[in-house]
Amino acid sequence: ATAAETRKFEAEVDQVLHLVTHSLYSHKEIFLRELISNASDACDKLRFEALSRPELVQDDAELRIEIRWDPEARTLTVRDNGIGMSRDEVIGNIGTIARSGTRRFLESLTGDARRDTQLIGQFGVGFYSAFIVADKVTLTTRRADAAPGEGVRWESTGSGEYTVEAIEQPWRGTAVTLHLKADEGEFLDGWKLRELVRKYSDHVAFPIRLPKQKDGKPGDELETVNHASALWTRPKAELKDEDYQAFYKSLGYGFDDALAWTHNRVEGSQGYTLLLYLPERPPFDALFAGRDERKGLKLYIRRVFIMDASEQLLPAYLRFVRGVVDSDDLPLNVSRELLQHNRLVAQIRAACVKRVLDLIEKLAKDEPEKFKTFHTAFGNVLKEGVAEDPANRERIARLLRFASTRSESAERTVSLDDYIARMAAGQEAIYYLTADTYAAAKGSPQLEALRAKGIEVLLMYDRIDEWMVGYLDSYAGKKLRNAAKGELGSDVLGADAEARKQAEKDAEGLLKKLKDALGERVREVRVSQRLTESPACLAFDEYDMAPHMQRLLREVGQ
Ligand code: ADP
Ligand code: MG
Repeated sequence: ATAAETRKFEAEVDQVLHLVTHSLYSHKEIFLRELISNASDACDKLRFEALSRPELVQDDAELRIEIRWDPEARTLTVRDNGIGMSRDEVIGNIGTIARSGTRRFLESLTGDARRDTQLIGQFGVGFYSAFIVADKVTLTTRRADAAPGEGVRWESTGSGEYTVEAIEQPWRGTAVTLHLKADEGEFLDGWKLRELVRKYSDHVAFPIRLPKQKDGKPGDELETVNHASALWTRPKAELKDEDYQAFYKSLGYGFDDALAWTHNRVEGSQGYTLLLYLPERPPFDALFAGRDERKGLKLYIRRVFIMDASEQLLPAYLRFVRGVVDSDDLPLNVSRELLQHNRLVAQIRAACVKRVLDLIEKLAKDEPEKFKTFHTAFGNVLKEGVAEDPANRERIARLLRFASTRSESAERTVSLDDYIARMAAGQEAIYYLTADTYAAAKGSPQLEALRAKGIEVLLMYDRIDEWMVGYLDSYAGKKLRNAAKGELGSDVLGADAEARKQAEKDAEGLLKKLKDALGERVREVRVSQRLTESPACLAFDEYDMAPHMQRLLREVGQ
């Protein structure tokens, strides 16, 4: 064998290691979940590759995870017979921050310890969590398609450097051995380990085996301690909330609980299972607002993990949804391209949309607190659906909430249905006003006439509102009308036509002077019925862009 080579971690790895080991101590037991989750991913990957290359698993077909401990050596080992890694992969995956998510995570760090801990909690810490409890970690591995002489051994104390060397490894897959710190002896106990596996990894779809404990020592006989079947394949009646929450966390988005979920088995022209979750809050990365690189919905085909297919199975406006889709009927050799144009996929996608909207509706109806949490976190994302999903426009609009002149608060609590239920007799339209801020909307002189008539106006002050409402011509048979645009309807003005003509006549001289003075800056100066207190206001033609929309376009250089 060649000598071990010593290499330096990337600077960012040092940063992550430092943060993980210092800020996550109170959650230290999650290291086991992270290592098991990597082992399970490795088994998933091998199972997938073996679809086209069955020889990869022939000699050792049962994919599994084993956990062993050695009280004398004070070591704990998590081993899998999954895909394994080549030397380059070890260096690329373990020695660098390969994942773009991690980079973004680092970029979003603030230096405020409490906030950063929260961030890291949302993000899932992965392999490096081993260093919370270990002062040295040894990883040995061999790729499933490599020869026994092509094994790799990686070792580090987690401080700046690691070593890699070539080794002989008769079995495929990966073993991660933790040399536990002096005060972490609790993890050298079969009962404790069993408890942790059950608590965090029960739903892992591969068997997790531990030696039976005899006289405080690991015996020779192994037993399976987890449920070892994919959670979503189990009957709903058998599953508790804790099971769903634990599975949600295993999807790899950190410690947060899920807000709600929907679990359905569909039989019929095609069979599939959906398990879809709503998170409690948006993920840390600011890019979530951007719509590229969507992740979070895993596609399985007959229990085999295929790929993350969030983009293919969910419209962009539901990109916050996470979970699993397991299809009975898609071909195992699907490609991304095929997913894009497949009739079965289109059906599943429609079902995902329907189930998620059902779930949000149910929250709105039965669980107002949770609905509020949802709406605060994702209301603005959902609004994109009004534009993007004409078929579900009304359903989506029904789920939106706005501030209104009825309440004194900026909180978004009024639904379009609430509004309609309160409409005055003879009121023709749903009135709204868009502005940059709540204060600007609420204080707008455009509202005076409507206020005088006791007509409620929805106050929209999120960036996306002007764009969204442009697609919402009407709702439940009622037109939506911008209170700042065009002529107000006779519902607001009443039958004052005569008085109005007279007023216009009286003001002719004044109007002409104003128009001359303002020149090209205005299109027209006219007598307004909008105002009751202010002497003048700027109004827009029906098809003009609202002022803050004009500003927005200027900002992006249009
Ligand atoms: P994540 O699992 O989110 O990708 P981790 O830090 O947990 O991040 O792991 C980093 C990478 O190291 C994995 O993506 C994988 O490529 C590799 N890896 C870790 N553990 C194993 C394993 N047991 N078998 C194969 N590859 C592994
Ligand atoms: Mg991982």
